[in-house]
Amino acid sequence: MGIDYFAGVEGASGFAYAGSPLDRASEIREDAAKIAQLHGRADARFILLGRDMPILAQRAPEPCLFPLGTLEELGGPAFEVLLGLGEGGAPWFAAQLPDARIQQRADASDGFLDRRDLVIPGRDDLALVDLRSIASQGLVPAPMVAILGQAKAIVDWHARHGFCAKCGAPTRAAAAGWRRECDACKAQHFPRTDPVVIMLAVDGERCLMGRQRRFPKGMYSALAGFVEPGETIEEAVRREIREGSGIVSGPVRYVASQPWPFPSSMMIGCLARAETTAIQVDAHELEDARWFDRAEAQAMFDKQHPDRLWLPNPMAIAHHLIRFWLGRAS
Ligand SMILES: [Zn+2]
Repeated sequence: MGIDYFAGVEGASGFAYAGSPLDRASEIREDAAKIAQLHGRADARFILLGRDMPILAQRAPEPCLFPLGTLEELGGPAFEVLLGLGEGGAPWFAAQLPDARIQQRADASDGFLDRRDLVIPGRDDLALVDLRSIASQGLVPAPMVAILGQAKAIVDWHARHGFCAKCGAPTRAAAAGWRRECDACKAQHFPRTDPVVIMLAVDGERCLMGRQRRFPKGMYSALAGFVEPGETIEEAVRREIREGSGIVSGPVRYVASQPWPFPSSMMIGCLARAETTAIQVDAHELEDARWFDRAEAQAMFDKQHPDRLWLPNPMAIAHHLIRFWLGRAS
């Protein structure tokens, strides 16, 4: 009898920022002539970003897709990346506008939500909208949110890596935007993806959630933290739970992952079996951490908690981890 290695495994489909339909076509990235030819195709599509915000056209059927002409009207890109090939082999590019083209009118960001008010002077028909708002308000279809996430993450990487981390000389983009090279010391630099573990410690019929000070009032979520060099996913899960809450945990299981382009994380969702139950909150990391039984977590999930406690919305993998623990389909 064969072993079903995939029993009970959930895919990551349906998560915000996941499920891009593009063929990344990595095999053509080194072919500069081919990239130039794709760039000139009449069906080439351009996603435009200013700073790290996607640009949306008001009243357009596909508000985040532009022809090359619009990019040229705006003064051309600071740099471009081939995102991949869409239907019929149509090439999709991400293009970053020069910073000087963008004006910041205000910044009411609160550490949780991005509330920068960015505009392109003279172009009232174009709006810069932060990606979380685009996703949470459903301003574009879900597959497009994934493509915008890819575009934002790679464009932001370029914006932050203009200089060689090894020798300090300026770097230049190569491989259709998927590498940067240093001509001074010949170092090659590749786009970053930073692994973050996000997890629920589980004690029988209870799970552990916490809240950071910057969270909106009443919101609790799974604990999370960056994987450090020299650590496995399992070790990072156990360390982050212990550091945040004092809880020691044992076996860890992977549930699902989600790209999180703020700016370049990969959220790795896990459950961990708690082996101790006494909570000692690390005040530097968390405002509170506590156990929630199923009934209470269900009430939070359904937005019916008597103390108005609530969970992250379905954009976040934390929502799906809690849903998975509750055994709910949706
Ligand atoms: Zn260098």
